Amino acid sequence: MTTGQPARRPKTRGVVLDLIRAARTISRIELATNSGLTPPTITQVVRELIAHGLVVEVGRGASTGGKRRTLLQLNPTARYAVGVLFERNICVIVVVDLAGRLAARTSFLGTALLPPDQALPLVASRVDALLETAGVDRDLVLGVGLASYGPQDRQSGVLLTAQPTDEWFGYPVAPRLSDILGLPVLLDNDAAAAAIGEFWLGTVEPHAAYGCIYMASGIGGSVVTAGQVYRGSSSNSVEIGHITIDINGDECHCGNFGCLENYAGPPAVIKQAMRTAGLGRRLGLDPNDVDVMTHFGRIATAASAGDPTATDLIVRSARHLGTGAVTMMSLFDLDLIVLAGPSFAAAGAIYQSVIREETHRRAFARRAHPLRVIASTSGADAAAIGGAVLVLRSELAFLELNGAEPPQPPEDAKDDHLSRRARAALTTKRVSRPTATGGG
Ligand SMILES: [Zn+2]
Repeated sequence: MTTGQPARRPKTRGVVLDLIRAARTISRIELATNSGLTPPTITQVVRELIAHGLVVEVGRGASTGGKRRTLLQLNPTARYAVGVLFERNICVIVVVDLAGRLAARTSFLGTALLPPDQALPLVASRVDALLETAGVDRDLVLGVGLASYGPQDRQSGVLLTAQPTDEWFGYPVAPRLSDILGLPVLLDNDAAAAAIGEFWLGTVEPHAAYGCIYMASGIGGSVVTAGQVYRGSSSNSVEIGHITIDINGDECHCGNFGCLENYAGPPAVIKQAMRTAGLGRRLGLDPNDVDVMTHFGRIATAASAGDPTATDLIVRSARHLGTGAVTMMSLFDLDLIVLAGPSFAAAGAIYQSVIREETHRRAFARRAHPLRVIASTSGADAAAIGGAVLVLRSELAFLELNGAEPPQPPEDAKDDHLSRRARAALTTKRVSRPTATGGG
């Protein structure tokens, strides 16, 4: 790229914006060094970002021999993104600013067995209410990152599972939510979003090769290398909840047999508890209640408080998850696994200790490098925050910088994907607020 050419590629801008975000304040020359881009390209990109109010100059840094360098910072209130963790037993909604800082948060007890045409308006109304309460101008909202379970068609924003009810299979969740909200909506896997959220929140160091085991009602997984989620062919990757741990096991709802989720997941643990003398009654468990996470939480809380029967059940679940963790580590040569998601909240210490023990004993590369298992610092919020971050890092942040030109296809289509419907929603938004970015 040369000086004369406008830096039109969203990816270049994304790299620059990410570096400024991570550094908080940084000079142009440091941006060039850290990004590997040429100083003229940096100058060009920074000029565009400043012209559109996304970046501001904030004084000068200390002299390093020559003249003191002008420092750059993101203008945090220039744009916002919404993240939604969406599942039947819990919904978490967050608003983050351009710098990735949490501006507002709310949560509610999921949408249970509601059909999509009732559940999505409910979620939308909560998003509207949160933006209103936070005093965030909707015109400054880039879009919504919807983190949910799979399998899913991330490109078209469609769930490919009949969970929790048949109506959800093939339902265009992201386009429909986008229609209701009038905002672009990007669908992503909850475990992938959680892994990005952890990275964003600083739990893991840049360039770490790490995995995330995500447990809510079900169990998911994801792998991140150098800040990028491993996507596979269709973003339905690292589904460790659906690896076989018993080849003679029962058929799973996914179609496979003997899946890990059916031994270690919250509904499985509740079933085991019901077969354990007295425990179900003592903890008030109801295996038919749709709210599996509340019932699972009672078992996990009892285990954390030292109840030996509940502890046995949680340890058994953790040993099975340990098998999943060992598999992930051995397949991807990971040195870190983060345990994230609301179902690790109550008995996280037990899970962490047992899974660590299993990986230290069994992972293939255990003598080659240290292996760590840590608990998420953001718990239930990681997936929602990651969803919002995926929006900040998508081309949504840069479409307006392209002026009248049609949006460029993302260079990394797997990480910056934007559905046609999302583009259409953004176009509508831009027409309605032509002066929002200074006429860019
Ligand atoms: Zn399965």
